[in-house]
Amino acid sequence: MIDLDFDRRHIWHPYTSMKNPLPVFPVAGASGVRLRLEDGRELVDGMSSWWAAIHGYNHPVLNRAARQQLERMSHVMFGGLTHEPAVRLAGQLVAMTPDSLDRVFFSDSGSVAVEIAIKMAVQYWGSLCRPEKKRMLAIRCGYHGDTFGAMSVSDPMTGMHSLFRGAIQEQLFAPSPECRYGEPCTEGDIAPLARLLELHHHELAAVIVEPVVQGAGGMRFYSPYWLVRLRELCTAFGVLLVFDEIATGFGRTGKMFAMEHAAVVPDILTVGKSLTGGYMSLAATLASGEVAEAISSGEPGLFMHGPTFMANPLATAVASASLGLLQSVDWQASVRRIEAGLWRGLEPCRQLAGVVDVRVLGAIGVVELEKAVDMASIQQEFVRRGVWVRPFGRLVYLMPPFIIDERDLELLTAAVAEVVALEVLKG
Ligand SMILES: *Cc1c(COP(=O)(O)O)cnc(C)c1O
Repeated sequence: MIDLDFDRRHIWHPYTSMKNPLPVFPVAGASGVRLRLEDGRELVDGMSSWWAAIHGYNHPVLNRAARQQLERMSHVMFGGLTHEPAVRLAGQLVAMTPDSLDRVFFSDSGSVAVEIAIKMAVQYWGSLCRPEKKRMLAIRCGYHGDTFGAMSVSDPMTGMHSLFRGAIQEQLFAPSPECRYGEPCTEGDIAPLARLLELHHHELAAVIVEPVVQGAGGMRFYSPYWLVRLRELCTAFGVLLVFDEIATGFGRTGKMFAMEHAAVVPDILTVGKSLTGGYMSLAATLASGEVAEAISSGEPGLFMHGPTFMANPLATAVASASLGLLQSVDWQASVRRIEAGLWRGLEPCRQLAGVVDVRVLGAIGVVELEKAVDMASIQQEFVRRGVWVRPFGRLVYLMPPFIIDERDLELLTAAVAEVVALEVLKG
C-alpha cells in the first residue's frame, strides 16, 4: 500500500498546498476507461488524464510499441544522432497538418513546446533585422502552460500574474472572443484585437491562441470565424500566428485539429498532451518553411534550443503508434457519439439554479456554475459514484477517452448532474 502520509508530507501535487493538501486517491492500475484504486474500487475516467489518454489506458497497440522500442533503445541524445521513431513520427505530423507546416521540433512537454514557439517567433524577426518585434499578443482566458514564457501568454487573472510581477514578461492581451461557437462573429467582436494589432504590430512577434476551444483558462468555445479574421489581421500587420493545439489536437473537438473548424493555417503550431495517447510526456512545435528558413538565414543561423530528452525514442515510438491507431479507427464517429451523449446527459443541468451554462463540443462537455465548487467534497462525491471527474473553479467538465461506451458515458454524465445538483444546493 502507498504511504499516503509520506505523500502528504513530502510530495507536491499540481497546484497544491504543502500545509493543507486535499486528499489524493492512490491508483494501482488503469485499463480501458477505468482507473483502479488501491482499495479495489474502479472509477470511470472522465478526464483522459487531462486530455491525453484518447485511446484509454493500457492499450495493447501502445503497450506493444513501448515494449518493442524498449528492447531497441529507450533513449539516445538527438544532437548529432537521429532514429527511426522520430523520423516516422515527424512524417506523420507533417502529413496530417496543413502543407505549409513541415518543420518539426520535438520537446518534452506542452509548456516547453510553447516556449519554443515563442522563441521561434522572436528569432524569426531577429533574423529579418526586426529585433524590436519580440512581444506576444494573447487573448484572455487562455492557457498555454506553466513555465515563464508560457505563463506570460496565459490569462493574467487565473495565471495570477500579479504574484510574479517583474519576473514575468508583460505581454499584450485582447479580450477573449465573445462570439460563441456556432454563432456568427461581428466586426465588434474582432475590433479590440484589430485595434491592438494596429497600435502594437511594430513590437509584436506573434499572436498566440488556442483555436476554437480555450482549455484550462476557462473552457470557452468560440466562433471559428474569429480565427479567419485573426489570420487576415496577422497577415495584414506582419505578425506571426501561433496556434496552441496542445489540448485540442488529435480529434478532441470533432476535427483532427481545431483549426480545421476555421480552415485557417498558422505559421507555428504546438501539439502535446494526447500526442502519445497519454503514455508519455512528448510535445512538438511545427513551423512553416518560411519561419524555419528565416531563422536559419539570420544570425546565428541556428535555432537556439535543444532539450536533453528531445525526441525521446520511447515517447516518439508510442506517439507514432498512437497516431497510427487514431487514423485506423473511425474516431470521428466516436467523437460524434460522445458529443451526442454529453448533450443528452448534461443538458438537463441547465435547469438547475446556480448553473450558468452547459456547452458541448466534440468530446468535451462543460457545466459552468455561478460559484466555484468545493473541491474536497465534490471530489469525494464523484469517487463515491464510481467516476473520476476533476472540476476547477466554477467549471465541471468531461473529456473522456474516445473509446468510452454508451453506458460508461451515461454513468459519467449522470454523476455530473447529481453532484452538480448537490453542489448548487449547498449554495
Ligand atoms: C496543457 C496545456 C499546455 C501545457 O502543457 P504541459 O504538458 O502541461 O506543459 C499548453 N497549452 C495548452 C493549450 C494546454 O492545454
